[in-house]
Amino acid sequence: MFEMNDRIAVAVSGGKDSISLLHILSKIEADFPKTTLKAITVDEGIKGYRDEAIKSAAKNCNKLGVEHLTVSFKDLFGYTLDEITQKTPTKKLTPCAYCGVLRRRALNVAARQIGANKIATAHTIDDEIQTFLLNIVHGDPSRTARSSSVFSPNHLGIVPRVKPLCEVMERESALYAYVKRVPFQEMPCPYAGEALRNDVRNTLNRLEEKHPSMKYTIYRSMEKVQQAMEESIKEKTLNECENCGEPTSANLCQTCQILQKLETL
Ligand code: SF4
Ligand code: ZN
Repeated sequence: MFEMNDRIAVAVSGGKDSISLLHILSKIEADFPKTTLKAITVDEGIKGYRDEAIKSAAKNCNKLGVEHLTVSFKDLFGYTLDEITQKTPTKKLTPCAYCGVLRRRALNVAARQIGANKIATAHTIDDEIQTFLLNIVHGDPSRTARSSSVFSPNHLGIVPRVKPLCEVMERESALYAYVKRVPFQEMPCPYAGEALRNDVRNTLNRLEEKHPSMKYTIYRSMEKVQQAMEESIKEKTLNECENCGEPTSANLCQTCQILQKLETL
């Protein structure tokens, strides 16, 4: 996932997984003098939740001596996530659907800003297989090809992404944070309860309990599906969004589609 001279931007939300990843990468990076490590936190604007997470992220970065940049939805897009959910009461799209698209953009913009050539995110095996099953539940398995643990984009404007914890279980990443006594935010996002993801998470946990290592079996199946789909994705070339100039496969990028829709509400 990494090269000797990488300029790594680690995405730190302030939760246990990203804080564990920050500590682990910082420890490893100390042995590679040509590598740099910086942290990015995206402030979606979720009242009563994100402020504490940002503090926790800042505290850990400070302790480790890692440079920390925070970027906000409000500054980048003109709305907080709370404002977006208030504007879209019909719930056609869940807050997580808006959040996912805008956060990916925010991370990419921030990573370019600090000169990173790689973004490391703290997706665990649980996140990965939940997304895999969700794509199937939503009838869109082709999305699986775009979420591999090493994402090498075919456009210079997109910073490559890696997921170093993709074969680590969420409970192990939590255990690391507890054993190392690192401070992290324990409260879950208030919007998380609305997601279908919770049902998928519970189903997978029940399966793992009854059939140990089932999560790894599903993960290996996901890898095979990704490999099979990779070729068709590679052929797609990306253009620049006609509105903001960011890379996209359509004429208008997903971020601009969301922002234009919000303007009409
Ligand atoms: Fe965003 Fe949903 Fe995660 Fe909350 S749970 S931070 S709304 S993606
Ligand atoms: Zn755009």
